Amino acid sequence: MTPLSITVSGEAETGQLGQQLALALAPGAVVGLDGPLGAGKTTLVRSVAAALGANPRQVASPTFVLMHQYEARTPIYHFDAYRVKSANEFWELGIQDYFESVGISIIEWASRVVECLPDDHILGRAELTGESSRLWLWSAAGPRSAEILRKLESSWQSRAI
Ligand code: ADP
Ligand code: MG
Repeated sequence: MTPLSITVSGEAETGQLGQQLALALAPGAVVGLDGPLGAGKTTLVRSVAAALGANPRQVASPTFVLMHQYEARTPIYHFDAYRVKSANEFWELGIQDYFESVGISIIEWASRVVECLPDDHILGRAELTGESSRLWLWSAAGPRSAEILRKLESSWQSRAI
């Protein structure tokens, strides 16, 4: 499957992307995010959380703790692998219990721990294409995640601009 590419032109549009993603997500989904500092990964998580009924003000990169949990329609587990030294270290923190739960897991800097992700997962990689424009490339491993991206693609195409 070729990646789904979505260009956003600013922070507000990253928020719209997160909202559409949230509506497409199924319980238990695992979403890895990559891209340089300032790409908008945390902004995206914040809008996913808000769309699922969490308080967006609680959302911040869990850089110094492994994970933040937000209460929403389904629990959201927000990980940040920036300071994780190895996939093995991440694994030993017990992340698989979260990945196997009905909550939604979102992992910033996922490429550092990609071996830890379950077989069925989504990866979103943001490239900086301008001061405030970002190109997101979304790919799915596994049928459940492929279905989520199909939904995202169609809702993104038909959204009111
Ligand atoms: P990351 O988690 O990828 O490091 P953040 O979401 O924490 O990124 O921060 C993104 C920063 O970049 C914010 O300060 C925001 O104002 C700025 N920014 C500029 N363009 C965008 C965009 N298209 N989407 C999100 N943030 C943007
Ligand atoms: Mg971040």
